[in-house]
Amino acid sequence: MSLDHLFANRTSRMSASEIRELLKLLDQPDIISFAGGIPDPAYFPRAAFADAMTVALSEQSAGVALQYSTSEGYTPLRDWIAAHMATLGVPCSRDNILITAGSQQALDYLGKLLIDKGDTALVGWPTYLGALGAFNAYEPRYDRLDPSDNRAPEQIALEAAEAGGRVKFAYLSPDFANPTGITLTQQERRTVLARADALDCAVIEDAAYQSLRYDGEALPSILAMEIEQTGDIEACRTIYLGSFSKTLAPGLRVGWVVAAKPVISQLVLTKQAADLQTATINQMAVAHVAEAVFDTHVETLRAVYGKRMHAMLDALSANMPTGVTWIEPEGGMFVWVTLPNGMDAKALLQDALAANVAFVPGGAFYADGSNANTLRLNFSMSSEAKIIEGIARLGAVICTAMGE
Ligand code: PMP
Repeated sequence: MSLDHLFANRTSRMSASEIRELLKLLDQPDIISFAGGIPDPAYFPRAAFADAMTVALSEQSAGVALQYSTSEGYTPLRDWIAAHMATLGVPCSRDNILITAGSQQALDYLGKLLIDKGDTALVGWPTYLGALGAFNAYEPRYDRLDPSDNRAPEQIALEAAEAGGRVKFAYLSPDFANPTGITLTQQERRTVLARADALDCAVIEDAAYQSLRYDGEALPSILAMEIEQTGDIEACRTIYLGSFSKTLAPGLRVGWVVAAKPVISQLVLTKQAADLQTATINQMAVAHVAEAVFDTHVETLRAVYGKRMHAMLDALSANMPTGVTWIEPEGGMFVWVTLPNGMDAKALLQDALAANVAFVPGGAFYADGSNANTLRLNFSMSSEAKIIEGIARLGAVICTAMGE
């Protein structure tokens, strides 16, 4: 029986992710896929997790590991995160931290917490598809968050009011964004904060890739900069989202939120109503593994992924025809490519799949589906040899499509 006629109006904005649909097609053995956005499983800290699970399930711990626990999260893990955040210029206490089932859950909770239908969310153009998916259920209007936007904040606020709401937050990923790989300069971060101040809205800082820097100097997070300005996390409007998905393993679904205590308290109520708590045993395992290997493991990942990133950038230089451009990232997992105007990356994908190479067409990452001539390439999942071969295939497909 179809119950479609009973579905709430908000479901009309929930659509299947183009990326997930595409990934289903990628089981063929010969294909070189730059389409995913996931870590290389060869580098999961498997032994450390095996150890951690054995400890968690030992006679002394199993009663805790398999039991309900608090919505805020497992205390030793929150303490580890508080110490980790201090090394990133964010002094905070465990009461500023909520553990979530990945940062994706935090995006959903923040949508629930902040968006009334018709409110405006400022997002990058393009932005992380999963964030749009999480926010869409709460029926926001989107406007551009662009550090070089020269509209006055009053203008942005007026347009939001005319659309029937107000600007509630700016969402961005300042380091090696998904999908563009772009890192905001300190000045751009300051501009985002100043604009959020002028609009009196929250800043949602998605730091999923922050630890994965391969080139250049680390920059302070927006939350660290705001603490520097205000002197106290309790006076900050920035809500920082962290994740162990890209550094340790995504399958355990452990992420965290750092924010002023009243924001955390409200998120705790949201979590209580939604799923009570993040899986206790997973939090215990992550706490154990983070304690044992986080820094050395991240060093390994930076070395491996950094080489893959450079292999991809070199291969692009060697194989792409004039007129194709790309952004050189300093970290993360993605290179963003722009084809000549008028080319359609979705149409190109059919030819690419026929040549056994895959990518994600970029239009999906725009809230309005524009910019069909862009595409996203992932470099974390393929060896350097595969990257060189795959980019050569892609270059040939693009040259043919351009009639060269
Ligand atoms: N934010 C960004 C920018 C991402 O790329 C991802 C994963 N692809 C997430 C959040 C969600 O990650 P997780 O829920 O696994 O922490």
